[in-house]
Amino acid sequence: MGYSGFRVIKEGLFGQKGWKPQWRNPEPKAEYDIVIIGGGGHGLSTAFYLAKEHGLKNIAVLEKGYLGGGNVGRNTTIVRANYFLPGNSEFYSHSLKLWENLENELNYNVMHSQRGLINLFHSDGQRDAFARRGNAMINQGDDAELLDTEGVRKHLPYLDFENTRFPIYGGLLHKRGGTARHDAVAWGYARGADQRGVDLIQNCEVTGIDIEGGVVKGVQTSRGAIRAKKVAIVTAGRSGQVAAMAGMRLPIESHILQAFVTEGLKPVIDHVVSFGMGHFYISQSDKGGLVFGGDLDFYSSYASRGNLPMKEHVMDAAMTLMPMIGKAKVLRSWGGIMDMTPDGSPIIDKTHIEGLFLDCGWCYGGFKAVPGSGFSLAHLIATGNHHAPAEKFRLDRFRTGRGLMDEEGTGAQHNLH
Ligand SMILES: Cc1cc2nc3c(=O)[nH]c(=O)nc-3n(C[C@H](O)[C@H](O)[C@H](O)COP(=O)(O)OP(=O)(O)OC[C@H]3O[C@@H](n4cnc5c(N)ncnc54)[C@H](O)[C@@H]3O)c2cc1C
Repeated sequence: MGYSGFRVIKEGLFGQKGWKPQWRNPEPKAEYDIVIIGGGGHGLSTAFYLAKEHGLKNIAVLEKGYLGGGNVGRNTTIVRANYFLPGNSEFYSHSLKLWENLENELNYNVMHSQRGLINLFHSDGQRDAFARRGNAMINQGDDAELLDTEGVRKHLPYLDFENTRFPIYGGLLHKRGGTARHDAVAWGYARGADQRGVDLIQNCEVTGIDIEGGVVKGVQTSRGAIRAKKVAIVTAGRSGQVAAMAGMRLPIESHILQAFVTEGLKPVIDHVVSFGMGHFYISQSDKGGLVFGGDLDFYSSYASRGNLPMKEHVMDAAMTLMPMIGKAKVLRSWGGIMDMTPDGSPIIDKTHIEGLFLDCGWCYGGFKAVPGSGFSLAHLIATGNHHAPAEKFRLDRFRTGRGLMDEEGTGAQHNLH
């Protein structure tokens, strides 16, 4: 069933009776060519591109809960391509281009809104760093514009520009940055994959990975054994635990990241605003809620809930940047489990086990990577070769030290990236 404005009007006139479920609910088969563990954004987009770009059909996505119930439905929805280092830069640039055609490609309204992202700076040194970043973005073919104080004031008049500790010197504007509706992205990819014959199996937890003679043979699940020629671990915050089923110890720590949303307000914040010095960023959802977040909770955990000190820290930063936010009431807060690598950059690679692939380490920035990651992992699984924009996301960089991409320059401490 195609979605269109005409269809919405027709269904409105005839009692909304013509809509069909967006995907089937199949029983798992005994064997697939490819099994993807994890029905988050990355697992679903991988399945979609395997079917669409490579014509493969005998594929299952195994999800222990419900589709989109993980971080893909818990993030703050920011989409951008403003990375500095080679490796990251070309990958996120490719991903943003996929975003720009995603609604057409999926025939699904993912509410991608390129409203512009402004990264604020508060010192001469920071201005230099952002100027370099902006130049790198332009070299990569993306957009960047360095704003001075007055330039920022024109866009964001509600900020406190004269704050003693963090006076606003300017900002780096990335006009193609913005937001998208996170769960619609998961649903759109799920529907697209299902339409192309992929089996999406929910409530199916992988409990073991079968390996014989160094070759992957399938998985054990809460719904029985499933044989497979190729298996991909795409389980975000649970990557370390799932890889351990294959005897692997990943260079990943799982940490909690929290987010917050206020009651619905009239339009007040038109952009995504990032206040790195205070570990705070904010945008406004189409429903009117101010959506904002901050730093990691600073200890490793698999609990999807956050601690109070970090809540206080985020609210402090919000009040520093825009005191008027103190009048808004916070409706909800939540947490998600981040798969943090020691250099803050992700992994898309084969493993030492034949037929076993890995896609993880997205830290707190994997939502914008959903199209690019699925595209590149699908390419790797289908062809055996790394996809050019993602070819630097190798696992062995953490063993050899060669090819590390430490975007923040914070060293090998997972929770600082
Ligand atoms: C509060 C917060 C804010 C964020 N903000 C942004 C942002 O603004 N922009 C951005 O780009 N990124 C952001 N992120 C990061 C982004 O959400 C993640 O990097 C990304 O969603 C991770 O990939 P995924 O969607 O595939 O993960 P998930 O949706 O978590 O998918 C992994 C899936 O694997 C399943 N799984 C785990 N173990 C098993 C098993 N044994 N068997 C079967 N299934 C299993 C899980 O149930 C889950 O559904 C944020 C994250 C959080 C928590």
